[in-house]
Amino acid sequence: PPRMRPERGDPIKRAEMLARNNVAVEVSDLRKSYDRNVVLDGVDITVRIGEVIALLGPSGSGKSTLLRCINNLELWNGGAIKVAGRQLGFNAHGKPLSPRLLANARAEVGVGMVFQQFNLFGHLTAKENIAGPLRWVHGVARADAERRADELLARVGLSHRADALPRHLSGGQQQRVAIARAIAPNPSVLLLDEPTSALDPELVNEVLEVIRRLAVEDGLTMIISTHQLRFASEVADRVVLLAGGAIIEEGPASEVLTNPRNPVAQRFLNAME
Ligand code: ADP
Ligand code: MG
Repeated sequence: PPRMRPERGDPIKRAEMLARNNVAVEVSDLRKSYDRNVVLDGVDITVRIGEVIALLGPSGSGKSTLLRCINNLELWNGGAIKVAGRQLGFNAHGKPLSPRLLANARAEVGVGMVFQQFNLFGHLTAKENIAGPLRWVHGVARADAERRADELLARVGLSHRADALPRHLSGGQQQRVAIARAIAPNPSVLLLDEPTSALDPELVNEVLEVIRRLAVEDGLTMIISTHQLRFASEVADRVVLLAGGAIIEEGPASEVLTNPRNPVAQRFLNAME
């Protein structure tokens, strides 16, 4: 079932959607440590439905950890995460959700994730990588799952590679399949963790182009950790800069990238030019 998404291919709807200010993801005072290593030290982010956030920050600043918490792949030590209005991770008494309740909550709110290393199922074809999880995880009937997979393969420009195994696809093609798989169940938010960092430079653009279209044409809510500053400035509504476990700078790309106030942000961005 479609969730909280604007109609496809309609930028005006996207603008309206943003103007409504409905919240897709709310992260409040998030704290996460590994043993004594404090990785996230009180992070607050609110993402509106239809909004695209670029998450920047030095290596080790906690970008992956933050995304993994939002997708409930990690539990956290303090603070709260709500997706589509639903509290994730812990119950009302502060106890971690049981695996069954967690699975229900995740399926209900719909968080999609794309990883740096694609993480496709190596023994399944491109099409099965998309249709399979729709059947197993989301209970979609085979014919419907396959129709959806075909539609999404076309959307990412890979209809002609439907029957190929991942090892016979280029990195860029694999990542486009991974994106198709992640959006197949209509997630309310798509998290992309350095989606182009593992790619040869000549394959980066085909992946960024797919992501750009999801933003502009589908109005998909996305949080993208990336080192691609130009892409961030073209596609993101807002840039969030993470360093030392906290958000040190955030705002429209035009302000954050060209005129950062925080000296740590200035050094980081200068080093990336
Ligand atoms: P980024 O994605 O910004 O490079 P990460 O979220 O991967 O940063 O890592 C942030 C910090 O958390 C690093 O110091 C890293 O060593 C630590 N870390 C990440 N995952 C784990 C883990 N599973 N166990 C222990 N430490 C971890
Ligand atoms: Mg990372």
